[in-house]
Amino acid sequence: MQGDVREHLAALTEAGAHARPVRRPTELDDVDAIVIPGGESTTMSHLLTVFELFDPLRDRLAAGMPAYGSCAGMIMLASTILDTRPDARHLDALDITVRRNAFGRQVESFETDLRFDGITDGHEEPSMRAVFIRAPWVESIAPDVEVLARVPDGPAKDRIVAVRQGRVLATSFHPEVTGDRRVHRFFVDMVRAATG
Ligand code: GLN
Repeated sequence: MQGDVREHLAALTEAGAHARPVRRPTELDDVDAIVIPGGESTTMSHLLTVFELFDPLRDRLAAGMPAYGSCAGMIMLASTILDTRPDARHLDALDITVRRNAFGRQVESFETDLRFDGITDGHEEPSMRAVFIRAPWVESIAPDVEVLARVPDGPAKDRIVAVRQGRVLATSFHPEVTGDRRVHRFFVDMVRAATG
């Protein structure tokens, strides 16, 4: 609908997936999994409703379709959103509470190197560059949500910025803009495992 669509299509293609944009309900029927990009969650909420994709997408997610959301995508997937507009809708596919624009004015946008469980603990590069742009953080999680990354230092030290619950993955940051394809490969592997 909106946001970093092209960047995710490129990253997914490099990670070995057959990636295509989804704007209509019929296009949703053709895919095994979905990525919800970074962008602006309140705009996405509005456009998903206008294009009559909101309900079909929420239904596919409820039926277990694998999904990955970066930044605004994390907000869309979450079950509870703090600091959003009262009319913004969300997809309720991930049992987390997120706070929009959580990092505040002074550090609205920043980059850091962080550890990502399941990725940087292998033999590849031991850390990952993470780009945050007016990002949310995860304020609380259900017991079966795995924390994959936290802010390593600074005023937001230890805030949760990557999570997984079963087939749903979300990051506060934007791996689609760095050229590092490890998060997209991680997601493609999740999809392969879930869909055979
Ligand atoms: N602040 C945006 C929102 O609330 C998210 C920013 C982003 O995706 N880079 O949707």
